[in-house]
Amino acid sequence: VYDLGQMIWSHGRISSKILTAARIGAVRQQVAVVPAGLPAKAPKGQRARAVRPLCAAEPARKPVSASAASSPVAPVEEEEASAVDYEALAQELVGASPLEIMDRALDMFGSEIAIAFSGAEDVALIEYAKLTGRPFSVFSLDTGRLNPETYELFDKVEKHYGIHIEYMFPEASEVQDLVRSKGLFSFYEDGHQECCRVRKVRPLRRALKGLKAWITGQRKDQSPGTRASIPVVQVDPSFEGLHGGAGSLIKWNPVANVDGKDIWTFLRTMDVPVNTLHAQGYVSIGCEPCTRPVLPGQHEREGRWWWEDATAKECGLHKGNIDREDQAPKVGVNGNGSAEARAPDIFQSQAIVNLTRPGIENLLRLENRAEPWLTVLYAPWCPYCQAMEASYVELAEKLSGSGIKVAKFRADGEQKPFAQAELQLQSFPTILLFPGRTVKPIKYPSEKRDVQSLLAFVNSLR
Ligand code: SF4
Repeated sequence: VYDLGQMIWSHGRISSKILTAARIGAVRQQVAVVPAGLPAKAPKGQRARAVRPLCAAEPARKPVSASAASSPVAPVEEEEASAVDYEALAQELVGASPLEIMDRALDMFGSEIAIAFSGAEDVALIEYAKLTGRPFSVFSLDTGRLNPETYELFDKVEKHYGIHIEYMFPEASEVQDLVRSKGLFSFYEDGHQECCRVRKVRPLRRALKGLKAWITGQRKDQSPGTRASIPVVQVDPSFEGLHGGAGSLIKWNPVANVDGKDIWTFLRTMDVPVNTLHAQGYVSIGCEPCTRPVLPGQHEREGRWWWEDATAKECGLHKGNIDREDQAPKVGVNGNGSAEARAPDIFQSQAIVNLTRPGIENLLRLENRAEPWLTVLYAPWCPYCQAMEASYVELAEKLSGSGIKVAKFRADGEQKPFAQAELQLQSFPTILLFPGRTVKPIKYPSEKRDVQSLLAFVNSLR
């Protein structure tokens, strides 16, 4: 029996709060009761197995009696589940603590819910689940590209909690086809979506087909662009559950309203094993080639897929977070009134030529290209473009009269497909040098966008 000291996590801080007598009884009883399939004490050298396999979709279970449904481990009746208004439930739980939300989720779905564990600070979810005293399941996506430190954490977590994590692997033939046709690092060239689809999204879909609900560690503060409005519980907008079809899967986000720093206070207070990469500056942790540490003050998502647009850094696991406007800001002829469309233009200098679509098409065809042209493909709402504005303007003024033209081309909105197809655009800003005599523009390969670095690039190719 765990003596929790009646500590409840509440609004990002640990507060002492007396649980009701009935609730304490339930917690204690359930911690003492060993879940089906889990030995009371695992024999030495043999891991306990607290979860069932997730990948095989199971036949529908028989409805259970009302008394059984009140048991912490019993799944809720079919009729009851379908009758739940999850928007109303999300409203009801908006001020609830993660522990209370976790408890509600496990209570409602019993053995048909599982925690998705990424190997980062979402280990907090496992701690909360343990604190409820209810049996719980955990699965993780092993993409084959994780850091060694993440695998070490998986092992530590299994031992610390006496659980078995169900690992979901990609289909070997799909990985083989991808690597054979595009190489091991195609995501740097083509964007991360294809690789994530093979290594993450499809294995996740298989896992979820065996469940009625899942629990994620998404937080609003992780990504202002894509996670700002996630509720604590919702009908999953993207994936299907055990019975298939829209609305067949419920998604719980117990820490949606918690700040990252409060998660860390909790992890330290409860002495939870954490990924050692965090001590090296990593905040958000994914696959090794697609994750890097961030500097103090940088947003954690800047450490993920840093070569791509800042507005849509989702791997597909939570693509329901991205609304259409996030995916493709509409700008240009008609506009749509969005914040992106209204963003004031940047790179405004007499030394910078504002290229139209026919203008840049002429450059592509070598027409009107007596001299080299340095051109930035940009979007005025992009923070990385805004950050390089001063140095690009200074560079343009330095190069004025040097025989090198400096230009800009707004490449978001309706111009984006063209820029992606013809101008090597993967993320904003993309800087191209159109040399005087060769047809193909040369893409600036570095993220250093200071005047000296850009001048070195131009001078080495002029
Ligand atoms: Fe592939 Fe990177 Fe996505 Fe991992 S995060 S699945 S390596 S693209």
